[in-house]
Amino acid sequence: MRRVSVFGSTGSIGQSTLDLIGRGDFDVVALTGGANVAQLAADAIRLRAEVAVTAFDDRLEELRDALGGSGVEAAAGTAALEEAADRAADWTMSAIVGAAGLIPSLRALRHGGTLALANKESLVCAGPLLLSEAARRGATVLPVDSEHSAVFQALVGEDVAAVEKVVITASGGGLRDLPLESLRNATPEQAGTHPNWDMGQRITIDSASMFNKAMELIETKEFFGLPPAKIDTIIHPQSLIHALVQFADGAMMAHLGTADMRHAIGYALNWPDRRHLPVERLDLAQVARLEFHAPDPARYPALAIARGVMDRGGLSGAAFNAAKEVALDLFIARQMRFTDMAPLVERVLERLEARGCLEGDTMTLDMVLETDRIARETATAVASGDHAA
Ligand code: NAD
Ligand code: MG
Repeated sequence: MRRVSVFGSTGSIGQSTLDLIGRGDFDVVALTGGANVAQLAADAIRLRAEVAVTAFDDRLEELRDALGGSGVEAAAGTAALEEAADRAADWTMSAIVGAAGLIPSLRALRHGGTLALANKESLVCAGPLLLSEAARRGATVLPVDSEHSAVFQALVGEDVAAVEKVVITASGGGLRDLPLESLRNATPEQAGTHPNWDMGQRITIDSASMFNKAMELIETKEFFGLPPAKIDTIIHPQSLIHALVQFADGAMMAHLGTADMRHAIGYALNWPDRRHLPVERLDLAQVARLEFHAPDPARYPALAIARGVMDRGGLSGAAFNAAKEVALDLFIARQMRFTDMAPLVERVLERLEARGCLEGDTMTLDMVLETDRIARETATAVASGDHAA
């Protein structure tokens, strides 16, 4: 039986993953979560996991109580997360949100096997590090972001050298129809509602600002090794086409499916095979037409920032992600306007570049973590009006 682990099992991707795992024959090694200890324990008991880990030390007692005499081990804290990643699994889902997912992703690669990567931040912050570690350990990394799974599927049997362009689609997010001048007053509740996808709060707000799409452009560059000029995005409000690949002969391959992450998760779980998935089928006659339009740069400044990050490469992805996480925290806490997030990220990147912090041909985990730390510190200082930061 295949041994599987799910990092971030209590989240949106995690729960969809458990839904598929629960329908198959798997040996569950580790499940991990954050504050939602009751969900974590219930899933671990139901799926007979070896160990359940909460990221928070002060939740250990609560987790132990919830696991009762079930025989599932309880653990807590970042060291426990790493230890859980060290327990060899054949297939590991990386679905922690944010840069916190990087170290578990890297650790899971150590014993080979397959890493199903939903945590796009791992690639944005440390793409070259993650992929070289995978190659060194003989591990396979499969994309779980819907767009990247779509590109991956369109490339089966193809030569990447014949790719002229990859187009990842964007819904435009929850604020796409709000007049431009009203964006500055958008609330976390408005931005946290998505027209098509049911996702975690952070990625939903990132969809409204298109910081999510910005990260996905970088993710495309890192994962597929494509030059930035060959990577594009287009608004497709229906979220039925997840990505398109255009080849040297002008042919375009599109991947279509309903907006259900179990498509991409299931593809990674069954890869290289295709098996039945319990997802709704598309009724094209009912869809009738597919809509597209170019994104407005004034509405979505994050896209231009991503272009700069892709061109600069190196540690700029780690700085970009960390500054974005700080901006998002401030917006969620109602301490920053929706439209002030992109200027903050831009300013942090400018300052770090001016200080020579983003340079370096090689990339080590220490360098990534240090860049993440400095970028968070700078973002916090700039946001609080410290002009010397
Ligand atoms: P979520 O917020 O619903 O769940 C996040 C999970 O991570 C939870 O289990 C939470 O307990 C855990 N977690 C949060 N902070 C943590 C920390 N500091 N340390 C350890 N664990 C922590 O998020 P989600 O929407 O499921 O997204 C997860 C990842 O997948 C993100 O990187 C996101 O960008 C990516 N992704 C999500 C979707 C989607 O449809 N939700 C689609 C594509 C990619
Ligand atoms: Mg996506």
